[in-house]
Amino acid sequence: MSTKQRSVSVGSIRRERKGTAVVVGASLSGLMTGLALSRAGIDVTILERASAFPHTGAALGGVTERMLEHITGRARTVRDETTHETCQTWSAVHARLRTAVEADPYIRLRHAATVRYVGQDVEAAWATTVDGDMFRADVVIGADGHRSVVRRSVAPHHPDATFAGYTIWLGLVDEPAIGTRHRWPRDSDIFYRGRDCLIGYPLSSPKGSFSPGSRQLGWAWYDTSRNDLLREKGCVVGEVVQHSLRAADVPETTLRELEVEASGLWPSLWRDVISDSVERRAVLGIPIAEYVPDRLVNGRLALVGDAAHVPTPMTGSGFSMSLHDAEVVAEAVAAGVRGPRMAPALERYERARLGRVRASVQSGQQFSRSFAGQAAGARNAAQPVCCRWSRRS
Ligand SMILES: Cc1cc2nc3c(=O)[nH]c(=O)nc-3n(C[C@H](O)[C@H](O)[C@H](O)COP(=O)(O)OP(=O)(O)OC[C@H]3O[C@@H](n4cnc5c(N)ncnc54)[C@H](O)[C@@H]3O)c2cc1C
Repeated sequence: MSTKQRSVSVGSIRRERKGTAVVVGASLSGLMTGLALSRAGIDVTILERASAFPHTGAALGGVTERMLEHITGRARTVRDETTHETCQTWSAVHARLRTAVEADPYIRLRHAATVRYVGQDVEAAWATTVDGDMFRADVVIGADGHRSVVRRSVAPHHPDATFAGYTIWLGLVDEPAIGTRHRWPRDSDIFYRGRDCLIGYPLSSPKGSFSPGSRQLGWAWYDTSRNDLLREKGCVVGEVVQHSLRAADVPETTLRELEVEASGLWPSLWRDVISDSVERRAVLGIPIAEYVPDRLVNGRLALVGDAAHVPTPMTGSGFSMSLHDAEVVAEAVAAGVRGPRMAPALERYERARLGRVRASVQSGQQFSRSFAGQAAGARNAAQPVCCRWSRRS
């Protein structure tokens, strides 16, 4: 331990608890893993680098109410879920999970705690923050997203997710701002035009209303033509996605181009929606990353969620994969938390999940390769197709 480091207690184990875990990252996977571990009898400390969470236009398809009830502790099983699918804002899902975490006496959530590296020995694992604080526990679980620091210690030979060759532009508008001349969509729509794809989806209003005309409309525009811009802005370096393009950093010329292109590509409702987002400079650019894992664990270290596997959002499977990771890893940790049983227990988690998550990412890569790899000049060649967006895998 360097002289600057100091150990931070992750809590003495209460008599009825089985052991301790540190989870790195308090986004959807981290919160779900914390809840699943706590329910399995583990004391949990979650370390999150952010001090506040952004409100973006991001939305999640394939998240059912039943899944949320289950993970937040108000239902018994996810196996008997109905096929009802819905699209919810990322912020609403996150708030729901955070409320459950904050109410759980066996979970401590620490913000502004950026983990620099993780380590382990035969007795324990630990996460060390940039401030030099060291958190020791029986296990450390990386839920720290597609640029995971924990992955560097689990799969040092394959540490980075790679750029899939396209960007998603995201926006969110209030239906009342769009006017009444449109017929409001009942469900998500997807449109393809040559090298572009647009997904439009209704979401509840911030007050929870889902009445047509009072909701929000989200849009996600898959675009292969602006990779150079993302590279110029440092969002993609080499083959690695570094960060998103914040709304404030999207150049005025790009916004105007999107508005003009939208008028030639998309149905009138979505043209107006995009125009409204452009006028408010409320358009976010997300370069898409993908990662096919060949390991999920190393000794007392494990990965879940986007740290473990990154499918294209087109699969609509990131949330459900993360939920299943959370449950299976919690079961494994609870079974093997003491001493030398941890590594074999985590290997059982890897055996249960690796094949499935690899297959899911690979199925998305087929979409990515055909979408990003289409011949230049194909724009406008295809007729628009409209279908349900949310897909489960
Ligand atoms: C545009 C877009 C659309 C999507 N649409 C869908 C969809 O419709 N359906 C679906 O199921 N999935 C979708 N996904 C995927 C889904 O959002 C993720 O799979 C899911 O949210 C799980 O993410 P995560 O919590 O593992 O990672 P992230 O959300 O990346 O969270 C990682 C967390 O770790 C923190 N962190 C990172 N590094 C550190 C560090 N060193 N120390 C401490 N904390 C750290 C971060 O601040 C963050 O809070 C979409 C993704 C994108 C990008």
